[in-house]
Amino acid sequence: MIKLHDLEFEPFISEGEITEAIDRISGELNQKYKHEKPVFLGVLNGSFMFASEVIKRFEGDCEVSFVKLGSYEGTETTGNVKTLIGLNQELEGRQVILLEDIVDTGNTLVEIDEILKKAKVKDYKVATLFFKPEAYKKNVPVEFKGLEIPNKFIVGFGLDYDGLGRNLTQVYKRKENEMTNLVLFGPPGAGKGTQATILKDKYQLVHISTGDVFRFNIKNQTELGLSAKSYMDKGQLVPDEVTINMLKAEVEKNADAKGFIFDGFPRTEAQAEALSEYLESRGTKVDAMIALEVEDEILVERLLERGKTSGRPDDANENVVKNRIKVYYNETAILKNYYQKKDRYFGVNGVGSIEEITERLSGVIDQLMK
Ligand code: AMP
Repeated sequence: MIKLHDLEFEPFISEGEITEAIDRISGELNQKYKHEKPVFLGVLNGSFMFASEVIKRFEGDCEVSFVKLGSYEGTETTGNVKTLIGLNQELEGRQVILLEDIVDTGNTLVEIDEILKKAKVKDYKVATLFFKPEAYKKNVPVEFKGLEIPNKFIVGFGLDYDGLGRNLTQVYKRKENEMTNLVLFGPPGAGKGTQATILKDKYQLVHISTGDVFRFNIKNQTELGLSAKSYMDKGQLVPDEVTINMLKAEVEKNADAKGFIFDGFPRTEAQAEALSEYLESRGTKVDAMIALEVEDEILVERLLERGKTSGRPDDANENVVKNRIKVYYNETAILKNYYQKKDRYFGVNGVGSIEEITERLSGVIDQLMK
């Protein structure tokens, strides 16, 4: 394993596999273009190693030139391609072979396609060392592909992470994050908050309760609090977009966490999708949804009892309490199905003493963290 800046990378493609792929591409290029006096056009910076290897193996006359474009910032492609060094060679009527280290979304290729068409080349073909079929969204044909790889962030053999790693002679991929992320699930009053407070200490996880974050914002009269209050007072859900953005901000505040207990989130399928996509982008995932199962009559009783001391207006009014439970069944309960389909749903009996319930939840978590 290696570390570049803040991220860890693990070995992914060996030097031998890379050499084999380059030998194969070079064989094809020799066969087709040996007598065409092609211009090899390398795309900087990443392709310098691949370009050098291909050009060394080329058996006919050729010329070599480079262009430089950029679309990456960190590990995310920005989709915004800038020409940093343009063509400095007459290419009209020439056979061009474009040498790319990696074809990912294809944004760079589209840009170069335009440049080469403007330059009136006779023909051009794309040769890339690495190709990400899942990420490629464009129509520019990619004729010569070294190795097809999944949609992972890689470094080495010319490719970098924020400037580092280009000198590595083999390829590494970003190490998957080994967090434990739990969704604590169940209707209002099931005891999620109580249990989350115990479990976060026991397993050293960060507890994010979206309800608590909203209440904190209401108390401090922030813009977020003001926009959430009217929904909460009626026992309705705060709109997804607001909630999702807030959750992301909370996760980002705790970037070093060993994992999270999400309490009160997700509550809709859109939130579940957004969470999964977001965690994926951070190299991690939801490991399990653990649900506290409690019957409705007990819930209403518990919430009204809690309302006497919690100071929460949405606990004190029986109609609001009932509406929260209704909203749960209408909008949130389907998530059981969502996580069941992924084999990540674990139901736990939520009736009993606090200790008993902690014990049951711990049984599931211990199994997951093994
Ligand atoms: P809770 O403390 O989890 O019972 O949440 C209290 C209230 O905050 C809910 O009734 C909603 O109005 C709002 N809320 C909390 N979490 C979410 C969420 N994930 N999506 C939408 N609204 C939420």
